Amino acid sequence: DQLAALDGRMEDVYDVGHELGKGAFSVVKHGRHRETGENVALKIIAAATFEGNKRAQEAIRVEVEAMQRIRGQINNPSLIVMIGVFSDPSKVSIVLEELNGGELFDRIVSRGRYTEGHASHLICTLAGALAQCHEKGIVHRDVKPENIMYTSRDDDTKIKLTDFGLALLYPGASVTVHDDNLVGTPGYVAPEVLSSRLYGPPCDVWACGVLLYILLAGYPPFYPSADETLFEVIKQGKYYFHPDAWDLISAEAKDLVYRMLTVDVEKRATMADVLNHPWLTSACDHEYDHLSDTIHRLKAFNAKRKWRAVAAVVMLGARLGLKKRARSSSEGEREDKNGFSVLELETLKEAFLSSAEGGVLS
Ligand code: ATP
Repeated sequence: DQLAALDGRMEDVYDVGHELGKGAFSVVKHGRHRETGENVALKIIAAATFEGNKRAQEAIRVEVEAMQRIRGQINNPSLIVMIGVFSDPSKVSIVLEELNGGELFDRIVSRGRYTEGHASHLICTLAGALAQCHEKGIVHRDVKPENIMYTSRDDDTKIKLTDFGLALLYPGASVTVHDDNLVGTPGYVAPEVLSSRLYGPPCDVWACGVLLYILLAGYPPFYPSADETLFEVIKQGKYYFHPDAWDLISAEAKDLVYRMLTVDVEKRATMADVLNHPWLTSACDHEYDHLSDTIHRLKAFNAKRKWRAVAAVVMLGARLGLKKRARSSSEGEREDKNGFSVLELETLKEAFLSSAEGGVLS
């Protein structure tokens, strides 16, 4: 596909430098423009990953088209900017602006001071960017802290939403549609996605609601007890404001969490509702209190999350048509109806249980 295609060989235009990170199907490297000196991130996807695989090709096309729409029609400073795409017989290279500030939670836990005002600013920025995406027919479908990065080390205010690799595109303003694939990340996936495979702007609102809960409490809202699964808990929308963590949080903030984590899609807040919510538009009771316990719990959760990213499957369904499985285990080959192997589900459950560490849930 010639979407946003750049001329020439990537290596002739950019000096390829060190590795910035690895995705499931890509490697991201630092690049420096040979003439202008501009620093970029090069997301390189080997041809072997998508050759002869229509779904993989479609996934790359969607990611590129989403970013092209963002650049051409939205131009919001909190959305990743794609510079263009090179392709040659051995790979596709997506040229992105380089984000140097690291992931959202890594930065927050290293802060000296953290307040509801900070969390509110983050959600406001994210909701503003996503509201514009929704207006232009882009549903992200994988909003989570790993996909929110700071632009630079020394600016605590500028974040960007990245990784449109699972996005859903509509011709115009988005509506909710059915998609047989189960797409998202376990802790952030919306109930209607689990029960009916319905995707639309509301699934991004839900994921932002999960993120907001974690930003305020320092641990995730949904975790299964011994006799239930994570997905059952999410489908029921069963979460609590545990007094130890939540008594310190303003009523306005809790109200917004409640509106975003509403199981009924019709009643759930839209991104526009989020942007107009009093917690974002006016000062609230605890705006300036330093949330030291939240930081403490977020540190534990963040450390577990890093481990989990390696140990557990973070994607549902068969993204790019390649399913990651637990190997050399007969159990690993058995799958439950949600597409996870039993082994993976166990790992996941364990991770979610332990990620609630920090004392308040005991
Ligand atoms: P997955 O879907 O498995 O998360 P992916 O193939 O979509 O992965 P990304 O998540 O986009 O890949 O990127 C992988 C890693 O590369 C990121 O976690 C991050 O560390 C780094 N990275 C990605 N984009 C950039 C960027 N624009 N600037 C700096 N680093 C980046």
